[in-house]
Amino acid sequence: MNIYGIIILATLLISFILDLVTEILNLRSLSKELPKEFEDVYDADRYGQSQEYTRVRTRFGFITSTFNIILILAFWFSGGFNYLDQIVRGWELGPIWTGLVYIGILIFARAILSLPFSIYSTFVIEEKFGFNKTTPRTFVLDLLKGLGLSAVIGGTVLSVVLWFFEYAGEYAWLYCWIATTLFTIFMQFIAPTWIMPLFNKFIPLEDGELRNAILSYADSVNFPLKNVFVMDGSKRSTKSNAFFTGFGKNKRIALFDTLIEKHTVGELVAVLAHEIGHYKKKHILQGMIISILHMGVVFYLLSIFLTHKGLFDAFYMEEMSIYAGLIFFGMLYSPIEMILSIFMQIFSRKNEYEADRFAAQTTAQPESMINALKKLSADNLSNLTPHPLYVFFNYSHPPTLERIRAIKNAA
Ligand SMILES: [Zn+2]
Repeated sequence: MNIYGIIILATLLISFILDLVTEILNLRSLSKELPKEFEDVYDADRYGQSQEYTRVRTRFGFITSTFNIILILAFWFSGGFNYLDQIVRGWELGPIWTGLVYIGILIFARAILSLPFSIYSTFVIEEKFGFNKTTPRTFVLDLLKGLGLSAVIGGTVLSVVLWFFEYAGEYAWLYCWIATTLFTIFMQFIAPTWIMPLFNKFIPLEDGELRNAILSYADSVNFPLKNVFVMDGSKRSTKSNAFFTGFGKNKRIALFDTLIEKHTVGELVAVLAHEIGHYKKKHILQGMIISILHMGVVFYLLSIFLTHKGLFDAFYMEEMSIYAGLIFFGMLYSPIEMILSIFMQIFSRKNEYEADRFAAQTTAQPESMINALKKLSADNLSNLTPHPLYVFFNYSHPPTLERIRAIKNAA
């Protein structure tokens, strides 16, 4: 085993162990006592359920990640990457199609193997806690649409990247970067109107008290909003959410029907104000710029490592190729990815505080924001007392209790 193999193996093992340790800490930090801020939205029974939900999900996550790491190591050390490569090369499809088929088979195999886990999660765990609304029909359709989309979209991007690295010479990484950047921006425009409607219905919010309250709030913060959409989240789960997508004229705010069902007008305006806060504070733009810069670095490093034979030796490959190099570089890059993700989570949590503050200030109703957060945690059975180390590594949003305290302190 060479240095590449050692780095990749060490990363896999370290991240597996780190997950395990932080999950155990997280379970230990489940507190028997209900934080007093939540007394009006939880009773003892519901609180007990939220803890049980955390326990069940954590155990399930542990089984899934154990299965995954065993699978990767088994495939790697049995020479699976080379074996598959030799078969696909035998079909003589040319460099681009060989790459598409090779990576396609790996992705498809992974999807099939993770299927039982996803079925168990939806139809056993989520069902048991009363969240699941997904019918087997929706589940199968989602799966097929997801696979179809990744074949079309992922396949297109992948063939462009393979083509540049195969034929464009020294500056291939730069062309790839430009192409994927244009593509990312394009996706931001088409996602709300072309892609999301494949999975959910988006209906403009009907006239009435809520719509008026939302539009007049949007006006007050100088955020031109033509439409608010209601998304049929209840098609899959009783959990609720709201989100913001798109840019320019295509930007839209969607509220889950399950959210509207359970919250007052004031709380819904607060949730929406939080989403507008992300836009106004430029979080969405910043996130996109960071990910575009990140892509540039990744493509540049990729272009260097694609020529390192040692990276291919580590996976017992007989022949070097761009497509296999993409996969191996992805694994080699994962320690950097891990560290970057920690910074991204810190950045994201900071943005959540900012959006909360924006909502509390501009609606002049911090209580509504607080109530909305409390109800959301209760409805979604969130863990109210996560371990700080677990939060540090995994939470894109601060724990609800900390958000509530921050809003109170600012008020
Ligand atoms: Zn947010």
